[in-house]
Amino acid sequence: MSVSRVGVLALQGDVREHLRLLDELGADTATLKHPEQLEEVDALIIPGGESTTIGKLATRFGLIDPLREAIAEGMPVYGTCAGMILLASSVTEGDQPLIGALDVLVRRNTFGRQNESFEADLEVEGLDEPFHAVFIRAPWIEKVGSEVEVLAEIGEHAVMVRQGALLATSFHPELTGDGRVHRMLLEMT
Ligand code: GLN
Repeated sequence: MSVSRVGVLALQGDVREHLRLLDELGADTATLKHPEQLEEVDALIIPGGESTTIGKLATRFGLIDPLREAIAEGMPVYGTCAGMILLASSVTEGDQPLIGALDVLVRRNTFGRQNESFEADLEVEGLDEPFHAVFIRAPWIEKVGSEVEVLAEIGEHAVMVRQGALLATSFHPELTGDGRVHRMLLEMT
């Protein structure tokens, strides 16, 4: 079996936690900051953090267009929380740099707003057991395009989606150490 090399976009956010979980799953890992490093990975994770900051830094590092191209060529990409926002095609408020490849409208800072974190056991499409999900000032999805598959929701809001090789969660599996969502990404490589 070949081992996939997964890059973690390392501009800001919880990079280390993703690297640790990927390592536990037996993946080869690399941190990524520059466009040319996209050539060296089979898949990419965009971590949680602050999407406006990650977006600004990604613009400054000349990464937005290369990321769009890599996605257009089929590279599997998984965005958690702020990473979901960056992948999205639009946000309900404000103006910020977005990659725009995932056909969803996202509202920022919804779940976990008051005391910073909110937890729930989620039913996830494709997983046998519920997934204990941690939300930290997390986005929810208000609208999905026709190509988007909703894999989990809370109330009427999608919190996990997939569109082709793009995967996004409002929550942070890297913080609880449950590798099942990361494994889904590895299975796409
Ligand atoms: N609130 C952050 C944003 O809007 C996301 C928070 C997170 O990634 N935990 O970018």
